[in-house]
Amino acid sequence: MLDFKRLIDKLRAERSLSAEELRQLIDGYDDETLVYAAAAARAVTEAHFGDGVYLRGLIEVSSRCRNDCRYCGLRRSNRRAERYCLEPEEILAACAAGYRAGLRTFVLQGGEDPALTDALLVPLIAEIHRRWPDCALTLSLGERSDASYEALYAAGATRYLLRHETIDEAHYRLLHPDDMSLARRLACLDALRRIGYQTGTGMMIGAPGQTAARLAADVAFIARFRPHMIGIGPFVPQHDTPFGREPAGSVRTTLLLISVLRLLAPRALIPATTALATLDPAGRQRGILAGANVVMPNLSPCEVRRKYAIYDGKAAAGCEAVEGLAALTKELAAIGRRPSFARGDYGDRHDAGHENSENQYN
Ligand code: SAH
Repeated sequence: MLDFKRLIDKLRAERSLSAEELRQLIDGYDDETLVYAAAAARAVTEAHFGDGVYLRGLIEVSSRCRNDCRYCGLRRSNRRAERYCLEPEEILAACAAGYRAGLRTFVLQGGEDPALTDALLVPLIAEIHRRWPDCALTLSLGERSDASYEALYAAGATRYLLRHETIDEAHYRLLHPDDMSLARRLACLDALRRIGYQTGTGMMIGAPGQTAARLAADVAFIARFRPHMIGIGPFVPQHDTPFGREPAGSVRTTLLLISVLRLLAPRALIPATTALATLDPAGRQRGILAGANVVMPNLSPCEVRRKYAIYDGKAAAGCEAVEGLAALTKELAAIGRRPSFARGDYGDRHDAGHENSENQYN
């Protein structure tokens, strides 16, 4: 019988584990390991971030997509998906509402909608930057050219989320259509980093075809790439996709991975994702208690939230929504945390505001 507690101790002390150790941990962990890993991860999170949990207002700008990812309800082959694309004015109005609620980071996320050209985005980003210079702007708009990433950065976007989804070639092909490639995705991630974005990557937990060995390889990739942000959440089936009848990913394994990634990357920004909250009503709290330090309340106009249906049953009300900030504050208080209204850039210390740019990675 493997001593998983020893592995967790080693992970905490050395900030690394071999791919084989990771695989064994993922394959064999039990409840005791989960609790032990979460306690270690929580201590590391508290040491770096205190009791603050960063808030990011999520604006789902478009449900149109040229891609055909097999897991995603917005895939182009899904004729039943309801499509919309927000007007710049609607996006600005969402930012204004978020700002009034105290949010200081806006995340523009969407499908790869050809309408989201640089000609549209550059002035929009510049305008957000001009109106709310104290806010950070994060983009999550998929794969674009290096020139586009550069133009959006120059306009004022400083963070970008692009999950690698899986580092295994064969697995990547199972999840994605033939016209997408892992090499291209990794080239995008490298470009984002090089340009200067605080870069986020990650993967779903329990996506079809995922094995413990593949998940261990994903963790090893993250340890090498050293992203500033790490987004992981359970796979949740969407009924109009080819994976619509596959089982959802495991909440427990997601929590284990949050803890493992926190121990690997103590300063990383790790959200308790909506997917986790969708599968478990206590998912957000459990994610935070496992080492997450970010939540992303939904700031999209209410009429469109239902249409951004990447998976079934997506939580978009209550604590997941900006209208629910009071409820979220209570929920956090119940686990000894409070919402932090700081921008929360990578490398910030909870006791030093955003002036401190100490950075373990660079
Ligand atoms: N189009 C952008 C962002 C949109 S989706 C992009 O591809 O980067 C953001 C993330 O949602 C994806 O990276 C994926 O990991 C996750 N996602 C998509 N479908 C999902 C599903 N069925 N279950 C859980 N997460 C999903």
